[in-house]
Amino acid sequence: LNILRIARALDFAARKHAGQRRKGEAAEPYINHLAEVALLVAEASRGADPDLVIAAYLHDTIEDQGVRREELEALFGAYVARLVSEVTDDKNLDKAVRKELQVQHAPHKSARARMLKIADKASNLRSILASPPADWSIDRKREYFEWAAKVVAGCRGVSPWLEAGFDEAYARRAELA
Ligand code: ZN
Repeated sequence: LNILRIARALDFAARKHAGQRRKGEAAEPYINHLAEVALLVAEASRGADPDLVIAAYLHDTIEDQGVRREELEALFGAYVARLVSEVTDDKNLDKAVRKELQVQHAPHKSARARMLKIADKASNLRSILASPPADWSIDRKREYFEWAAKVVAGCRGVSPWLEAGFDEAYARRAELA
């Protein structure tokens, strides 16, 4: 049954994000990011937490694709819907406020939401290192790294393995150009 739910979540995410690409110059399909985050949390939980993997596939559907929480709830259950909501920014606020709120709210999130956040930020840092957005200055990249580190600081204590993965990417910030 969980295999079925995971397959459905992957299919749902692939369809919803079909037209979306990563910001980097390689412009990878967005599903690559979702697959990476799902793999990170699956590894971190040693395959024992299907809801977390499902939420990882779905984590940007509300924020980027305007999917409604009710739809996720109907398809994947209340728990998954709540977890995705927990890692979704309020798009009514402007970007600077949203970024600050991510830092402030991080320590108050559930353990699984914090795992998801760390995996998401690790994936984003790796992506900036491997394929930086062409229009980002070095300062903008550095600022992103520093902001991500602040969010992750508030998420620590949930998975040493995930935290080490983030730290490894963050440690490479000297390579930013
Ligand atoms: Zn993401």
